[in-house]
Amino acid sequence: MTVETDPVSAAETTDRPVTCAVTAVESVTPEIRIVRMRPVHGESFAYRAGQYARVAFGGFDERDYSIASRPVPGDPELAFHIRNMGGGGPSQYVADNLAVGERVSVRGPFGATYLRPEKPGPILAICGGSGLAPMTAIVAEALAMGLTQPIHLYFGARRERDIYMEDHFRTLAEQHPNFAFTPVLSDPDGPTDRRTGFIHQAAAADTPTLQGCVAYLAGPPPMVEAAAAMCRDHGMAETDIHADAFIGEAERRQRDGAV
Ligand SMILES: Cc1cc2nc3c(=O)[nH]c(=O)nc-3n(C[C@H](O)[C@H](O)[C@H](O)COP(=O)(O)OP(=O)(O)OC[C@H]3O[C@@H](n4cnc5c(N)ncnc54)[C@H](O)[C@@H]3O)c2cc1C
Repeated sequence: MTVETDPVSAAETTDRPVTCAVTAVESVTPEIRIVRMRPVHGESFAYRAGQYARVAFGGFDERDYSIASRPVPGDPELAFHIRNMGGGGPSQYVADNLAVGERVSVRGPFGATYLRPEKPGPILAICGGSGLAPMTAIVAEALAMGLTQPIHLYFGARRERDIYMEDHFRTLAEQHPNFAFTPVLSDPDGPTDRRTGFIHQAAAADTPTLQGCVAYLAGPPPMVEAAAAMCRDHGMAETDIHADAFIGEAERRQRDGAV
């Protein structure tokens, strides 16, 4: 997979952390918390829908987290979807201990997987687990901007209990005829009426050619790799595939050559 470079977001990126206060922690699946926060000193945090920030929770080192909110002038609230990876790391701290009112440091924005409204093709958003975070922002921004091309969000979850924000996306689909939401279970724990199998295979089965489409992908690295390969195999241009693989911190440091 090619790594995109993005001079625009690089120019806007600040190394100065913004201090935020947690305003809500919501448990949406056994493993995922939606965390909302606001800058405490009236500072602004500029970003594009789909980008990520480096966030330090509870005195731990920073980790990368996609921003699930979209930038709204006058509303500085940021939202994140944090999946508990266990092992005593920051994500477990968020699941077990993070409280409303706690201070969190947020730095960024980073990443080139953000909405490209100038691209007119149908939008295919494919994500797994907490990869729903940047897709929530991208879909919200696309619909708020009044984009009229088809927008299809495929959300991969292992079991029924891992599906979240379904009511939100069903409501959006009722309000916007160009938006469709398809959750897909990869490992259902019983009989189900839902689509099943791998998420990229579900998307491929629905559309014989993806030529001219624009893809946004986020979630576990194997899922993102498989979805990107599927997009290429179905005729999508490499430059129209925008992907964030949620690699762990150790892997990220190795990739970036950090000590
Ligand atoms: C661009 C980008 C965006 C991201 N956005 C999000 C997001 O929106 N939401 C989100 O929840 N995460 C996201 N991540 C992943 C996040 O940055 C952390 O790597 C993740 O939360 C790991 O948890 P931790 O920091 O608590 O784990 P660590 O302290 O690094 O490790 C704790 C335990 O978890 C294990 N672990 C860590 N990562 C993985 C992994 N990928 N697979 C299997 N085991 C692992 C470790 O081996 C260890 O046992 C993103 C990553 C990238 C690169």
